[in-house]
Amino acid sequence: MSNDITIARGAKKLPIGQVGQRLGVGAQDLIPFGYDKAKISNHYLASLKQKKDGKLILVTAINPTPAGEGKTTTSIGLADALKRLDKKALLCLREPSLGPCFGMKGGATGGGRAQVVPMEDINLHFTGDFHAITSAHNLLAAMIDNHLHWGAESGLESTRVAWRRVLDMNDRNLRQIVTGLGGSGNGAPMESGFDITVASEIMAILCLAKDAHDLEERLERIVIGYKRGRVAVTAKDIGAVGAMMALLRYAMLPNLVQTLENNPVLIHGGPFANIAHGCNSVIATKAALKMSDYVVTEAGFGADLGAEKFFNIKCRQAGLTPSAAVVVATVRALKMHGGLSLKESASVGYGALEAGLGNLGRHIENLKKFGVPVVVAINRFTSDTSSELAAIESYCHDLGVPVSVCTHWAEGGRGAEDLARKVIDTMETHPSEFKPLYRDEAPLLEKIETVAREIYRAERVEASDNVRAALRRMEEAGYGRLPVCMAKTQYSFSNNPKLVGAPDKHVLQLREVRLSAGAGFVVGICGDIMTMPGLPRHPAAEGVSLNSDGEIEGLY
Ligand code: ADP
Ligand code: MG
Repeated sequence: MSNDITIARGAKKLPIGQVGQRLGVGAQDLIPFGYDKAKISNHYLASLKQKKDGKLILVTAINPTPAGEGKTTTSIGLADALKRLDKKALLCLREPSLGPCFGMKGGATGGGRAQVVPMEDINLHFTGDFHAITSAHNLLAAMIDNHLHWGAESGLESTRVAWRRVLDMNDRNLRQIVTGLGGSGNGAPMESGFDITVASEIMAILCLAKDAHDLEERLERIVIGYKRGRVAVTAKDIGAVGAMMALLRYAMLPNLVQTLENNPVLIHGGPFANIAHGCNSVIATKAALKMSDYVVTEAGFGADLGAEKFFNIKCRQAGLTPSAAVVVATVRALKMHGGLSLKESASVGYGALEAGLGNLGRHIENLKKFGVPVVVAINRFTSDTSSELAAIESYCHDLGVPVSVCTHWAEGGRGAEDLARKVIDTMETHPSEFKPLYRDEAPLLEKIETVAREIYRAERVEASDNVRAALRRMEEAGYGRLPVCMAKTQYSFSNNPKLVGAPDKHVLQLREVRLSAGAGFVVGICGDIMTMPGLPRHPAAEGVSLNSDGEIEGLY
């Protein structure tokens, strides 16, 4: 089969106006970005209020391994399959970041015959949302330094600034920097640093805001640092919010594109799944539910992080009720959970597969705790044998969970029709009884302990006196009702990435807590987490080029 970019280039795309028309969005409500991309107007979004909501289907996965799972690819396949069954379906995905695109992972627009297009544009600058978010974030940074330069009327202390800078790039050299060198005309020397744009609180805010008004209020609440007595100073206090809103004018509007099979897709927002919640925007998801009967969406990483945060943060804050969860698994990844290396996972390893199934089983059990029915999608690779596939199927049958072997990567939507039927059937026979895992009123540490115990199966949470005191201070300052956003390795249920499979009775080390007052969550950091990734020895960027026809080569 051809590689992803060649297949994408061969797509018979419809003009975006036609894609909009099929969805019921008229030309007057599209803001086109060329032939095949458009934003949906505020006017249209506001007109949807009275419409009934469709059903929300979450696509999540087992813990990621280097063998790959294919959540995005499966989300695309499922949406295409629903359309093939004559259902009104709409897919909601995150926007890719340039960092991983040029680093290790490549793009994030699916693969094989299950892709969204134009893949080069979506993976690179797209409609400029990430640039707008980067600018809004750095405008606030510049205004904070300027505020200090002119005497800090708010009382903000230069040693207690809690706002860094961002860039949509993997650049490890910028993690820790000193600004203001070169004499007093250049400001006072201060420590700062860069995070990747997807780790910006503004990204999380944009993705959790319900509308422009809510976006503005959330930006106002951003804590930029502290004055004497640990009193918070906010973005509103230094008058930065109006200009940030102006920069985000278009970034807050969902982007419309299409799949290879000409079905509509909203791609909007892309918060990190560690320091933030890892889901596409609430604005896009809510609009999609009004525009369609079935909405398919993806959450980042495995279900222990992605689905947990989708339910406990996004659905809680936005008042969403998911109707089903699809868990994506692959033979090779399950073998790695059974102890094989990436290389070994390519060969037969029946015992390892059996051992690795515990990872899938654990996620199924966890998802049911949220009251949401589960369907397993086995994303088939050409190397999988029929006995391996049968072993996973029989494991799911024993658990009473519907399972489907999918071939959308090789065949497009046709290969996920069985999955689509099973998802619809499950939603009809098992109405969702969705409930988040913990109450708003529970103390912050108790919320973290609940996730650790119920989802990670940790025996206990270990936290220093400093971390406990920081949580108490947040509660005293009125942030106690916020949900917690767990930042943990995606590779394991524990905070040790090497503990694959289904470990239990481990101890979760809660190293640090951070307040994201605008986003509306408290981040619990377990183990080392990276907010500015680096590039590998041979980054994907080495293989990217522009050919003499002006086409991009080497994206995947
Ligand atoms: P995720 O969303 O879980 O990170 P993606 O859907 O982006 O995963 O897939 C990651 C990579 O794996 C993509 O490059 C995609 O082309 C590839 N891939 C996905 N499914 C298959 C498959 N069934 N066979 C071969 N490659 C696949
Ligand atoms: Mg993905």
